[in-house]
Amino acid sequence: MRTIGLLGGMSWQSSIEYERAINERVAQRLGGVASADLLIRSFNFAEIEALQAAGDWSGCARLLTEAAMALEAAGAQAIAICTNTMHRVAEQVEGALSVPLLHIADATGAAAKRFGITRVALLGTRYTMELPFMKDRLREIFGLEVAVPEPEDRDAVHRIIYDELVQGIFTDASRREMLAVMRRLVDEGAQGVIAGCTEIEQLVTNDDASQALGVPYLATAKLHADYIAEFALADL
Ligand code: GLU
Repeated sequence: MRTIGLLGGMSWQSSIEYERAINERVAQRLGGVASADLLIRSFNFAEIEALQAAGDWSGCARLLTEAAMALEAAGAQAIAICTNTMHRVAEQVEGALSVPLLHIADATGAAAKRFGITRVALLGTRYTMELPFMKDRLREIFGLEVAVPEPEDRDAVHRIIYDELVQGIFTDASRREMLAVMRRLVDEGAQGVIAGCTEIEQLVTNDDASQALGVPYLATAKLHADYIAEFALADL
C-alpha cells in the first residue's frame, strides 16, 4: 500500500473526516485491522485564513509547497491538499514535487461523469466560487458547465463557512440557508450540486441534499478521500 501525505487543518473539522473516510475505505478493502499509511501535516488555520484574506496566495503556495516537500522527503508517494480553496495553489505545489498531487477537482469531476451530469452548481468559499482554479479544471478536463450562486448568496455561503463550519458550528438555520441556495441553482437548471468546501457536507449531508434537492450531491471531502484511498490501494 502506498504512503500518502495529507496537507490538512484547513480546517481540521474536515481533515478528521478525511482521515476517517480514507481509513474506512482501506479497512473495507483489506479487512481485519488494516488501516491507511498516512503522513499528516495539519496547519494552524488562523495563519492560512489570514494569508487568504490578504490575498497572499504566494505566501499560501510557499507554506504548502514546503510542507508537501517535507512529506515527500518523509516517504509520501502522493500528496493531497484536504480543502478545495487551497487548490488555488495546487499547480505551484505540484510543480515542486516528484510524486503526484491527487487533485480534489479530479475526484469531483469523475463523480459527475459517473452520474452522467454536465451542468453542476458549485458552492464553496468566495475564492472557490469566484476564482477560476476550480471551475476551469472542471470545465477543461471533465466538460462540466459550472454555475455559482448570485453575489448575495455567495456572501451567505462564505460567511457560514468561515464564521461557523470551520469553527465546528453547525446550525439548522444555516443548513436551511445553504439548502435554499442550492435549490435556487437546481431550479435554474443545475443537474447536480458540488459541496465545494470540505466542511459543507457536515452541515448538509447526503441525506439532507437528496431529500431536499433530488439531484446528485457531490460531497468533495468524501469523494477526495475515496480517491486518495483508491490511489493508496492501487499498487496492491
Ligand atoms: N475547507 C474549505 C474548502 O474546502 C474552506 C477552508 C479553506 O479555506 O481552506 O474550501
